[in-house]
Amino acid sequence: MGEVEGQIRSEELDAEREARRRAALALVRQYPDPVLRMKANEVGDFDESVTGLVERMTLLMDEARGVGLAAPQLGVLRRILIYRKAEEEPVVALVNPRVVSTDEEVEAADEGCLSLGAATVVVEVERPTALKIEASSPQGEPISIEAEGLEARVIQHELDHLDGVLIIDRTTPEQRRAALAQLRPQPVLGPVG
Ligand SMILES: [Zn+2]
Repeated sequence: MGEVEGQIRSEELDAEREARRRAALALVRQYPDPVLRMKANEVGDFDESVTGLVERMTLLMDEARGVGLAAPQLGVLRRILIYRKAEEEPVVALVNPRVVSTDEEVEAADEGCLSLGAATVVVEVERPTALKIEASSPQGEPISIEAEGLEARVIQHELDHLDGVLIIDRTTPEQRRAALAQLRPQPVLGPVG
């Protein structure tokens, strides 16, 4: 009997977790929201609005089970992005990030996006395998990062969001067509209620 109760409890937990994920995703701007196509502005003042936004973004990213998030995805056009290298790793927050150099080697891999069907759409994107970034912390301290592998990919995905670029712009025409078809609202079946 205890085993069954335990099972029910864990199912309830999963349901709660899923409900929280959906609630977080409802706050993430979805394609074709025009804000996702706009260029974000440099942050000038490193005040509490920056640290507050980073806190809010971190909460949403974790609840939505994302690995990265950019401010425009919350409708805020400021050059701020966050990510985690792994679930247990601390959040990295980059303000006004700029690419110093990129590796010549490129690699193709599948990517999803919280703003494209809550990551149900997956397309192949080719990106440099490593890059060097300079940015500021939310407190205005200089940050220098040499990233490779998944970290390099996540940073480039989020950097794109700061310039209004989406993964459907970086994939093949065939995959772009398939992704857009998947995102199109489903036809309503006759008059219901
Ligand atoms: Zn994205």
